[in-house]
Amino acid sequence: MQSYKKRDNSVDSFIFGPSGLRGIVGKTLSPEIVLKFASAFGEYCKSGANASRDKIILGRDSRKSGEMLWHTVVSGLLSCGCQIIDIGICPTPTVGIAVKMKKADGGIVITSSHNPIEWNGLKFFSKDGTFLNPEQNKKFFNLIDKKRDYKPWNRLGKLYFENRWDEIHIKKIINLRYIDLNKIRKKNFKVVLDCNNGAGSLYAPYLLKSLGCEVVELFCDLTKNFSHPPEPQARNLKRLIQEVEKKKADIGFAIDPDVDRLAIVSEKGIPLGEEYTLALATDFILSKRKGDVVTNFSTSQVIDDIAKKYNAKVHRTKVGEIYVAQKLKKLKGIIGGEGNGGVILPEFHPVRDALLGMALILQHLAENNLPISELVKKFPFYFMVKKAIKLGKNFENRLERLKRRYKGIRISQIDGLKIEFKDSWVQIRKSNTEPIVRIFAEARSKGKAEGLVRNVIKSLI
Ligand code: MG
Repeated sequence: MQSYKKRDNSVDSFIFGPSGLRGIVGKTLSPEIVLKFASAFGEYCKSGANASRDKIILGRDSRKSGEMLWHTVVSGLLSCGCQIIDIGICPTPTVGIAVKMKKADGGIVITSSHNPIEWNGLKFFSKDGTFLNPEQNKKFFNLIDKKRDYKPWNRLGKLYFENRWDEIHIKKIINLRYIDLNKIRKKNFKVVLDCNNGAGSLYAPYLLKSLGCEVVELFCDLTKNFSHPPEPQARNLKRLIQEVEKKKADIGFAIDPDVDRLAIVSEKGIPLGEEYTLALATDFILSKRKGDVVTNFSTSQVIDDIAKKYNAKVHRTKVGEIYVAQKLKKLKGIIGGEGNGGVILPEFHPVRDALLGMALILQHLAENNLPISELVKKFPFYFMVKKAIKLGKNFENRLERLKRRYKGIRISQIDGLKIEFKDSWVQIRKSNTEPIVRIFAEARSKGKAEGLVRNVIKSLI
């Protein structure tokens, strides 16, 4: 893996890494940069064994800047002679599914996922419908500044539109062997849904209605801007929490702008935290079949407790869903994802999918015949504290100093620095998508987790 998370050392430049390209529109993410990346991706997809094929799937989230970027990406791809199938505003996983089903050579989603509204970016899919892996990313990045083979007027690409992908994606979920449509429909779950006016605004109500749910739509209007900061964390979900209580709903769902992260609010109006999304999905899948689980080093140890119950093994990777997807493929794992609310079911599609997560959790609820708060009570409870600080100049030196201080304690350096105690841990890692350092800690008590984070921050600033 080469270290090109940032183009240079300045913190205000665009960011390129395992999650694609990201920047602030009008500042670090200019049409020139987007054109460079889009045309390089066109070249990348045309290189190698599939030189004669050049079909790219294109989608975007609902950010207003998406329109400007869309024209730039289309222009870049057409100029290289690519055939584009545009599937409109859609979840990120839908593009992955479309790449695979249409046997395309690649895919681009115009999104910056959970970043604030001023951000946007591009996520790149390889022809197998997963994000580019580190080797592919390296090969692609090497093309950015190379001379382009721009085509003459009679060899330019062509743009096609397809708009039935909500139906295809949702049918694929409903047809999963784990989903008993009659069982879920009989429950007639009342669900409050917060899409934050993101790309899920059309897909998610459609799925829930297909599952026989009574849906209370909160912020499901694509024409509007985000109603709250986009990360589906408890502090941003006040309206959802209120509405679940007010409407006496069975569950509240919040999804991020490109629909790969899912957070749950219990029927009591208590946010469960994103960690419990993957925990619930894992508990459900492991109750159906035996197999390995893959997640990243930042994910709660509740996954280990659940896996233990079913005699399953948990494998950990670096943060970044491509690493989880790659390990799932290599080990033939049956369920995986990330503690930020991202669920991957490889037999469905090897990309995090919030729609899939909703369906699995509703099926789990229907089969257990328990309120969500009771279902979660079966798991050991951990407090996780997640903090972020700005990436300082002396970060690496200070990290080394911190490491020396914990000499003798179990330390893992596969992803940043993770210090593991008996039933608690703290992890320090640079973000792949923003110029910040994330500090996560987990312990049996809130005070202990906060203390771990506090001590680390003191050493780093
Ligand atoms: Mg996302």
